[in-house]
Amino acid sequence: MPRRISVCLLIIFTLVFAVHSSGAVPEKRKSAKKSATAAKKQQKSPQRKSVKPVASKKLPPVVAVEKTQAPPAELTEVRHWSTPDYTRIAVTLSHETPFEKHEIAKTPGSGILSRIFFDIHGAKLSPGARDLTIGDGLLKSVRVAQYKADTVRVVLDVDNIRDYKIFTFSDPFRIIVDVKGEKPTEISALSPAVSAPPQATTTALRELQAELRKEEATVKASPRARLKPGKIRRIVVDPGHGGKDPGAVGLSGLQEKDVVLSIGQKVAKKLKDELGIDAVMTRSTDVFIELQERTAIANQVGADLFISIHANAALNRKANGIETYYLNLAKTEKAAQLAARENGTSLEKVSLLQAVLFDLMANYKLNDSAHLADEVQKALFTRISGKDPSTKNLGVKQGPFYVLVGATMPSILVESAFISNLQEEVKLADPKYLEETAEGIIDGVVAYIAAQK
Ligand SMILES: [Zn+2]
Repeated sequence: MPRRISVCLLIIFTLVFAVHSSGAVPEKRKSAKKSATAAKKQQKSPQRKSVKPVASKKLPPVVAVEKTQAPPAELTEVRHWSTPDYTRIAVTLSHETPFEKHEIAKTPGSGILSRIFFDIHGAKLSPGARDLTIGDGLLKSVRVAQYKADTVRVVLDVDNIRDYKIFTFSDPFRIIVDVKGEKPTEISALSPAVSAPPQATTTALRELQAELRKEEATVKASPRARLKPGKIRRIVVDPGHGGKDPGAVGLSGLQEKDVVLSIGQKVAKKLKDELGIDAVMTRSTDVFIELQERTAIANQVGADLFISIHANAALNRKANGIETYYLNLAKTEKAAQLAARENGTSLEKVSLLQAVLFDLMANYKLNDSAHLADEVQKALFTRISGKDPSTKNLGVKQGPFYVLVGATMPSILVESAFISNLQEEVKLADPKYLEETAEGIIDGVVAYIAAQK
């Protein structure tokens, strides 16, 4: 990409990534406005008009590219996931573009919001994008409109909320709004409110909820559990990737999405059959589910723990071993690189996420997550190294993983082995190894629950 364009884009990206919360500093907003205006000015720059069409062969590439204006970002979809005290809104756009947030109070100075809206610049509304009726006690609705020729306005009509956060995910570009309300005294954990346009993942969620209701009535007594699950009644098992996203692929062609689905299915079955714990899978087949939906499912079903299962990969084909992550700043370059890979984005975007991570972690159970990661890593390594003493224990680590952002329960990401390492790829293709891995994760969960008392 030509340097002038990339510098301009970088400025826009950086500003877009600022996190807005209800207590946002006014200066931030002002500078965002200024930059949006600056970006507009640049687009309208008269210099561009003076560029004459010349045969592209002889032109330096910078001129050729400047001639074509960046196409508007298309707002393709708005979705939401609801619980009685938490709602997530996800606005998906075809690419990154600046936006600014505004609030309207019910009565001036009251601090009680009636509306939150944001203007997305350089954007067009796709014909398929629709308003949402929510009515979950937190938000009434979300409306989208082509406010100006190049600006899309998204309006959240507020019913009653305590706090909210706006942040963005990259590739594809998504604006996420997490809204928190007061916890009601009586929780009906399973709200059927999913009003996104009909598609595979929404149908999957509905089926999952129906299945869950059935299973609630018929949870079996467990042979393994002399241990009582106590407060841990429902665990969300999240096999990474799926569908169009294969995850990491080994030298012999083994795909991460297949390996982790198999481990996830085994873990879920053991949780149900042996511990009498409800296990909810974010996916139980080979389907693609976006990262923001996985966390939303965990929050929506009122999960007590969230376990995301992956297979590791590194450029260094010799890298091997087992490691477990929880959400925090990456302490090493390797951890940041892994987060970039699992987030499906660049290292640069990961460092932008790191800059705002603490603001997003207000509801994250940091200590409990670290403890869960510790128990699972220890137990998993013990299991696997019992069969193969050469297994490397890479320990518990921290990283900014999209899939853990916004989770309100202890949540971890397990990297079972390196699919990028030929020896470990062979192991990951062996159902016995996957069985041992599932056993190891269950041992860790059992140890975590036992320590809770
Ligand atoms: Zn993965």
